[in-house]
Amino acid sequence: MKPRLGQHFLIDQRILERIIRYADLNGSDTVLEIGGGNGILTRKLAEVAGGVVTIELDHDLADGLVSMTRDTNVTVIQGDALKVELPYFNKIVANLPYQISSAITFRLLDAGFEHAVLMYQLEFAKRMLAAPGTPDYSRLSVTAQYHANIEMLETVPPSAFKPQPRVKSAILKLTPIEAPYQVNDLDFFNRLLKVVFGQRRKMLKNSITAGAPILGIPVENISRLDEDILKRRPETLTPQELAELSNIIRHDV
Ligand code: SAM
Repeated sequence: MKPRLGQHFLIDQRILERIIRYADLNGSDTVLEIGGGNGILTRKLAEVAGGVVTIELDHDLADGLVSMTRDTNVTVIQGDALKVELPYFNKIVANLPYQISSAITFRLLDAGFEHAVLMYQLEFAKRMLAAPGTPDYSRLSVTAQYHANIEMLETVPPSAFKPQPRVKSAILKLTPIEAPYQVNDLDFFNRLLKVVFGQRRKMLKNSITAGAPILGIPVENISRLDEDILKRRPETLTPQELAELSNIIRHDV
């Protein structure tokens, strides 16, 4: 076992069955799995989908998956899911290696898919789902909800895995959506979210002033914003309000 690769294998058959049900697969689907591991989920996916592509970083586990799935509808890619060229797929099902949760989620959202059923650390899942004004509301909540409708399917205890992780997990369903509000410059918006949520106890006026050099904007741009807004803390603003703020202070508007 290599804990640094997030190798916690699902052992609870009932949860496995429910993941398959949530994924709503049929013979015309090609499913992408991140981190095939010992193949417990891979084999189930292969029974219901037209094809399965699993990406596994660990050489020994990837070799095991290749022998296990020879002459089936499963293709094994040995490599880093953050770096390999992604194959064709229309749905995703994965018990994710938690250390790459954020990076892989945004890589997959960028690639596009119909829906994804993904297991995350519970704390991470809560941040993805969080609403404005709650303690878990963060940059991740805003950016994830900009790209997808996110649904909590169930929480999963450590005892569902071997070896057991120290934390609880959760299964989420992600369905990509059309942009729910206008963002003129997504890269700038991301940097602004980093600046304001990086200092979430500060009023926006202070965090944006301190972050102006990182944002590459003259401090004067901040005066374009309403004084009342500037006195607020980032977690009190809706994603749409944050986007409006970003559109207003962006350098070249
Ligand atoms: N699919 C199995 C299951 O459901 O029990 C294993 C899931 S385990 C939580 C995560 C798997 O992802 C491990 O097998 C690990 O080796 C693999 N992994 C870790 N980092 C990876 C990466 N960057 N790219 C692809 N696979 C990775």
